Amino acid sequence: MRKYVIMGVQGSGKGTQSQLLSADLDIVHISVGDIFRWNVQNHTKMGAYVRRTMAAGELVSDDLVESVVRDRLTGHDWNYGFIIDGFPRNRAQAEFFLESYDIDGVIVLDLPDSEVRRRVLNRRVCQNCGMNYNLLDNSPTVPGQCDMCGAELATREDDTEEALAVRLRDYHEKTNPVLDVFRRKEYVITVDARPAPEVVQADIREQLGLPPFKSDGPAPEGSAVA
Ligand SMILES: [Zn+2]
Repeated sequence: MRKYVIMGVQGSGKGTQSQLLSADLDIVHISVGDIFRWNVQNHTKMGAYVRRTMAAGELVSDDLVESVVRDRLTGHDWNYGFIIDGFPRNRAQAEFFLESYDIDGVIVLDLPDSEVRRRVLNRRVCQNCGMNYNLLDNSPTVPGQCDMCGAELATREDDTEEALAVRLRDYHEKTNPVLDVFRRKEYVITVDARPAPEVVQADIREQLGLPPFKSDGPAPEGSAVA
């Protein structure tokens, strides 16, 4: 059983790296952002709250994030382990989490703010099938059109300069206390997130003492995102 937390500002490739890690190791990728996006797309009550909050340029409350993760973890569909992305968000959650689960490692994807801005503002998503693109190194064949289904690509609603500035500030303020908690337990590995995804993945696996990625497996969903 392997249990990991992955941390890194939005655009650092958390989703891609989590999917690469979970693809052949059979661990479940738990993404708080994906759970919220699903709720928004499916017009749930929670989704309405998340949409309102983001439209106001604010952040979803730590309590809601915690309850979403708790619900997900009590689902017990993670026989071989999990990798969590988007949690914990504060010191109290980090301490609770460490008391409840034996964490094997905390992966920190390190990316300068200037590079985050460049990556995030170039992200596009298919409005029909949800396929992710990045105009920097993963443009669709026909500009503005999804390679998979031909539908129109759009910017995510929360990928604006203003919203990103808020998220970056929030990330730095909140991440440092969480990292302090994990660093005390010596769980943290730091990985340079600037190279290509497969290079970053190899670095993660080497530092965690895991076998190399098996490239003959199925391509992870959404692997085109930076
Ligand atoms: Zn599509």
